[in-house]
Amino acid sequence: MGKVIAIANQKGGVGKTTTAMNLAASLAVLEYRALVIDADPQANTTSGLGFDPSEIKDSIYECMVDESDINDIIIQTEIENLFLVPSHINLVGAEVEMVNLENREEKMRQVIGEIKENFDFIIIDCSPSLGLITINALTAADSVIIPVQCEYFALEGLGKLLNTIKIIQTRLNQNLEIEGILLTMYDVRLRLSNQVVEEVRMHFKNMTFETIIPRNIKLSESPSFGLPVVAFDATGKGAVAYLNLANEIATKNGMAKVN
Ligand code: ADP
Ligand code: MG
Repeated sequence: MGKVIAIANQKGGVGKTTTAMNLAASLAVLEYRALVIDADPQANTTSGLGFDPSEIKDSIYECMVDESDINDIIIQTEIENLFLVPSHINLVGAEVEMVNLENREEKMRQVIGEIKENFDFIIIDCSPSLGLITINALTAADSVIIPVQCEYFALEGLGKLLNTIKIIQTRLNQNLEIEGILLTMYDVRLRLSNQVVEEVRMHFKNMTFETIIPRNIKLSESPSFGLPVVAFDATGKGAVAYLNLANEIATKNGMAKVN
């Protein structure tokens, strides 16, 4: 059974998409079957993996309202073992249209349930909101990764997110765990970056990943080439960091590969 991990933070620009595509790609390189679901109408994961969102017909949303079959929309990417459920801009209207559906928070869980056993890991890239699609993602997920940028106001909004996670645990998904808080865009030369690391580790000691993602230009360049960083700059600092994260998560879940 695949482990479903949502990447969520209602703050924009904290590294959700970068983490979703590069964590999934790193897991694939480590020979896990990995699926990344783009659940953001901005479709940055879709384009970052080399697909043109304007040419995408069906997304996770069409599956959630029974207009499409998830098995028909999974795309094999250029990376072996890495698959994508793409997104397109129509996902924007989804929240409004779904409001009157019964069990509207559980649609994504039902859809993912159909394919869960075909993958080792399913990573969901959430949009910067706590709207219905993100609620669906958190209801479908076994765990959540919260990227936190090593910047001013790093912890801003975190309380609200943790509170939302608590509500979901109580009402919709009691199995939801926090996989970890992931520090992103770390710059060793900046005192501020180091302060954020200290502060987050102090407040959320056992919840913070050991792996820290550095600020790395290749991570921001690779999407415009339609490639995850492991295929763009395989030995660079960004690629190594996401491979370390993939290993950390596999180990934590008792799925480490024996060499
Ligand atoms: P989100 O999905 O949370 O909005 P993104 O992953 O799209 O955030 O990241 C926001 C911007 O920062 C993007 O332009 C991305 O390329 C860049 N970025 C993200 N992580 C890093 C990093 N570790 N180093 C350098 N640039 C990064
Ligand atoms: Mg994003």
